[in-house]
Amino acid sequence: MLQSKEFQVDDLVYVPCEGKAPFLRGRVQALREDEVLVVQTEHATITAASTELRRCFDGDVCQDNTSLVYLNDATILQNLKARHQADDIYTYTASVLLAVNPYHDIEGLYGPEQCARYRGKHIGALPPHPYAIADAAYRALVREHRNQGFIISGESGAGKTETAKIVMQYLGYVSGSSNNITAQIQQRILQAQPILESFGNAVTMRNNNSSRFGKYKRFFFDETGTLMDAGVTTYLLESSRVVMHSSSERTYHCFYEMLSGLPKEKLLRWHLEPTKRKRHLLLASDAEDTDEKWHGEFQERDAKNFRRLCDALAVVGFSQDDMDSTFQVLAGLVHLGDLSLAERDEGDETSTVQLDEEILAKAAGLLGMDATELAGALRRRKVRVTHPGRESLHEVPRTTAQFRHALHSLIKALYKRLFERLVFRINGSFQELQAARGHCEEELREIGILDIYGFERLQRNSFEQLCINLANERLQQYFVENVLVAEEALYRREGLPWYGLQLPDSTPVVSAISQTFRILDECSQQLAKGFEKTDESFCQKTVDEAQKDPERRELLRAPRTSKKRPTLMNEGFVVKHYAGQVEYSTKGWLDKNNDRLLPECEELICDSTFELVASLKDDDQGKAPFRSISKKYCTDLEHLLQTLSTCQLHYIRCFKPNDFQQAAVFDEQLVLDQIVQCGTVELVKIMHDGYPNRCRFQEMLRFRDLLPESFQRYGTRTFIEALLLAYNVPKEDWALGTSRLFLRAGQLKALEDLRSAG
Ligand code: ATP
Ligand code: MG
Repeated sequence: MLQSKEFQVDDLVYVPCEGKAPFLRGRVQALREDEVLVVQTEHATITAASTELRRCFDGDVCQDNTSLVYLNDATILQNLKARHQADDIYTYTASVLLAVNPYHDIEGLYGPEQCARYRGKHIGALPPHPYAIADAAYRALVREHRNQGFIISGESGAGKTETAKIVMQYLGYVSGSSNNITAQIQQRILQAQPILESFGNAVTMRNNNSSRFGKYKRFFFDETGTLMDAGVTTYLLESSRVVMHSSSERTYHCFYEMLSGLPKEKLLRWHLEPTKRKRHLLLASDAEDTDEKWHGEFQERDAKNFRRLCDALAVVGFSQDDMDSTFQVLAGLVHLGDLSLAERDEGDETSTVQLDEEILAKAAGLLGMDATELAGALRRRKVRVTHPGRESLHEVPRTTAQFRHALHSLIKALYKRLFERLVFRINGSFQELQAARGHCEEELREIGILDIYGFERLQRNSFEQLCINLANERLQQYFVENVLVAEEALYRREGLPWYGLQLPDSTPVVSAISQTFRILDECSQQLAKGFEKTDESFCQKTVDEAQKDPERRELLRAPRTSKKRPTLMNEGFVVKHYAGQVEYSTKGWLDKNNDRLLPECEELICDSTFELVASLKDDDQGKAPFRSISKKYCTDLEHLLQTLSTCQLHYIRCFKPNDFQQAAVFDEQLVLDQIVQCGTVELVKIMHDGYPNRCRFQEMLRFRDLLPESFQRYGTRTFIEALLLAYNVPKEDWALGTSRLFLRAGQLKALEDLRSAG
């Protein structure tokens, strides 16, 4: 027999450990009873249960993880590490491309020459690359007329946006610019990127160019594969960043770019000349620094990017006036932000918040608002009082907290709507070209690229994280299903029988989250109508309802409390996601879930004499005081999934190698966590039920010396069969396809052992 299922003395293994690295490599030194083994590592002797050990094969580095002799989390991790060190940042796992962020430019990896190299080649013929996947997708689109979708995921800083650009580069290269309009579409696609980045990206602790919104870009092609149209849909811009961010981060790039790049006379016109006073919107409210802080290391880049932004806006059809209007609104927001320092005498019920008149006048002037009305809306709220037979409207002063809330909502709403307007205009610029081309009879096929936040488990998780993780939960289900479909197709192509595999099911957790959003909507709605509803009562109801349901009880529960962590009643809950448990804090959710601006603030926008601001008013004329953000998000998400369901999907999982945005540093624990969270381990487990190792026939010739020379006269296929029979590999442990040998876990190692023994 070739192998024993158990470990033997001298086997090379990985032992999980608590230290810096998640695994230590060692050799089994002795076997004890009850499956306990003694492992000798470089520095220590460790005892471990056999179930904890991972098998290891010395020096195993492959382009595709499924060619690893042993396939487990530890070997995948080591493979990625070895490849990352050699600047081979891409690795396949069956049909999925894994990309480890190199944090430096790798020479000769991208560009037209490389595009040409990958064009028309089969996946696997050249080193793994996004170009290879993009090429396969494009060819399938042209040949089979099937829609194609790329799902690019990973945590902040992992390289999703850069990878999406690399895929777009290839599509641009291959889809030709034979006619003028196609060239213009390509030009606009290219220029939409800096606009979205200026307005939707920011410096964060994890990424100097972090996208604070999700996006799905679509490219439409005719039958011959010529690019005909494009469009972009965005999801959940983090609008709170425009009023608040931590002290080592920044708000959106556009503000700093404008301040660094505008000509002097415009800076003066919009009162943006350098000041000794602190600018609240640009600096974190808790930071003490003045202007230098946000300028800092980024000033040069900001100024350069401002020119890039203006050029890009011009390409998608912004006139100089349009641009000026946009920057004027941004300037108005900067001044509005400076109002947040206001105070009021809290002891006195009738006093109102004291505002700096000069700043107020600047903000109001730039936004086309009347200064008195602006101050009024921010300082006082209108309360409807019903008397028998009549109603009257009273004005009640806002507390400082209420004032700040009103001010922040106004800034956030204006920014969010400005962002949406930009997206709308970008899309409009594609439609314009469509119209110029004239009527198009034929049905177009599309390639979509989804660049969306991966699974998040932060120190503190809120409403946004639940939305993000819901998307990931849904996408993960798609992933597993799709990869299985790809597996099935491979088996079929190779002529092997397909045994349906057991799938994990995300339906229960998705339904637990939907239920949470339903309760949230109910509570937000009641609060907006003036009923007594709090974040706590929402939280309590959510947990209670989940606990009543045997299906959901395990998936959503109250956080456990400990001595170190005293009870926080009704301030959060824990959800068990596919990628692990996440504790959410429910503070502020009722407000976060409401898309409606306070009526006093909405009026300010409606009444603005500045055309751009007035056009940003809430178009939905309904007077309901509540409009659900979670519902809109879920609808958008379903819509996205609907679109994706028409596509053949391609997955790119991006990994962040360290927390310092540094080249050549590979933090094993950090990457391992991501391997688990992106579902790669789950995928491997699923594959384990089938034949996890696949070797192309040619690769098997390395075992040539295991058979007498006379066997080499036969074809590779016969040679392989003879080899397996000669060494008694059980029949159920291998299968021969048309181009590959499929092996069950362990058998490839057994052959390797024979080779090295021979
Ligand atoms: P977020 O979720 O915060 O938007 P992200 O996954 O989109 O993060 P990117 O902005 O794409 O991350 O990448 C972060 C940085 O990593 C880039 O600004 C770039 O410096 C570097 N980077 C990413 N991919 C590559 C690459 N293929 N080659 C060189 N550098 C890269
Ligand atoms: Mg990004």
